[in-house]
Amino acid sequence: MIPYANHSEKIELIKNGTLSLRENVLYFINEIKSQKDLNAFNFVFEDCVLEAENIEEKINSGTAGKLAGMVIAIKDVISIKDKPLTCSSKMLENFNALYDATVIEKIKKEDGIIIGKTNCDEFAMGSSNENSFFGAVKNPVNRSKVPGGSSGGSAAAVAAGLCDVSLGTDTGGSIRQPASFTGIYGLKPTYGRVSRYGLTAFASSFDSIGPFANNSSDLSLLLEVLSGHDEKDSTSSPLDVPKFSAIKNETDKIKRIGIPKEYFGEGLQKEVREAIDKLISKLKENGFEIKEISLPNSEYTIATYYILTTAETSSNLARYDGAKYGYRSKESNNLENLYRNSRSEGFGKEVKRRIMLGTYVLSSGYYDAYYKKAQKVRRMIKNDFMKAFEEVDLILTPTSPFTAFDIGAKLSDPMEMYLSDIYTTSANLAGIPGISIPIGFDEQDLPIGVQFLANQFKEENLVAIANHISELKK
Ligand code: GLN
Repeated sequence: MIPYANHSEKIELIKNGTLSLRENVLYFINEIKSQKDLNAFNFVFEDCVLEAENIEEKINSGTAGKLAGMVIAIKDVISIKDKPLTCSSKMLENFNALYDATVIEKIKKEDGIIIGKTNCDEFAMGSSNENSFFGAVKNPVNRSKVPGGSSGGSAAAVAAGLCDVSLGTDTGGSIRQPASFTGIYGLKPTYGRVSRYGLTAFASSFDSIGPFANNSSDLSLLLEVLSGHDEKDSTSSPLDVPKFSAIKNETDKIKRIGIPKEYFGEGLQKEVREAIDKLISKLKENGFEIKEISLPNSEYTIATYYILTTAETSSNLARYDGAKYGYRSKESNNLENLYRNSRSEGFGKEVKRRIMLGTYVLSSGYYDAYYKKAQKVRRMIKNDFMKAFEEVDLILTPTSPFTAFDIGAKLSDPMEMYLSDIYTTSANLAGIPGISIPIGFDEQDLPIGVQFLANQFKEENLVAIANHISELKK
């Protein structure tokens, strides 16, 4: 058992000698082994236990970084120097990263302990973590269910108590949806808040790295460390980073919460709706003004998302050609065959589907009809949000229309799978931040999450509402 609820409690226990960090790390390594059936980790770094003593000394002498003592798992799409970086793909099965991603540099600098790399959908494409070369991840809440995706391993690792916190990535919901399915907190920052340097690109204008945690204070501390300008990422923002970890419950800054009517239509599971209605009543009681709003272009989000992200991915994944690095087919007698065979054998089904779709929407005859039009719709979706945020400080929606589904249930129908992200992709289209907060359970005891969206660079509102809601539960 972990004898603490969050990082500051953990530090207290270490300082007063009740908890040994070394034993704590060994405990996690042992848990990872005993819950191996979850398949949450692609790689475990057992030697990280060697760092524990050193960091414990720093904690006791008052020289430790902000994350000292935190045990962190990293989605296997983020570079850690000299460690495997597979993106859960056969294409990169034997690839080791050459440098640290900026987020990894930051974690190391603040004395976080990196325990391993987590399983995910191949190149972060999926909503159930079933598209992994290493096999599906199970949901620790109910092992017959998916943990959500694509950051399913990172979410399962936190939910199952295999580490303190983890990093995921979110291109269309891959942090928020698995957080919701596993009953934990997950935050996707504003596009540009956290450097993407060292993140394997899926859809570059959508991708963001963000934290998972089982409590709101660890979530905000990790977010604070990850955020900030990075000259190695030209899309990273020069704006100052607020001290997210110091935000307590400043909900006085949040007056109005908008409820977009388009997000409560058909297909929303009854118990999810009920849990959200209950939360809305509570928030009203606590003095928030709840206002119905409209995001009129919501019906176009999934189509726009899949046109633009597949276009970007078809270009980003062109680098895996069997020649430069990654998987190389043995069956090739000329250059064209080498490309074709390596890519045919190295990529999984979903990745190939997206490359084909993306190549199609970018092709000369269809570019205007699909890609260019989708770019325009993206702008309209963004404008809907900008207009809404003139009236409200936060937008409240379900994270997912349903709770975790059975492993295998949606595998044969990609359209059904894509609908898992109906409430999450809009934030990536608009570049705004979003969070999923656990608020209850359905009749099968599966977790339900609520999503809050904020204006660009207003993560502080998300942190404040997360703190407020976690207080309500106490
Ligand atoms: N599930 C979405 C997709 O398959 C989102 C993925 C993500 O956010 N990485 O594209």
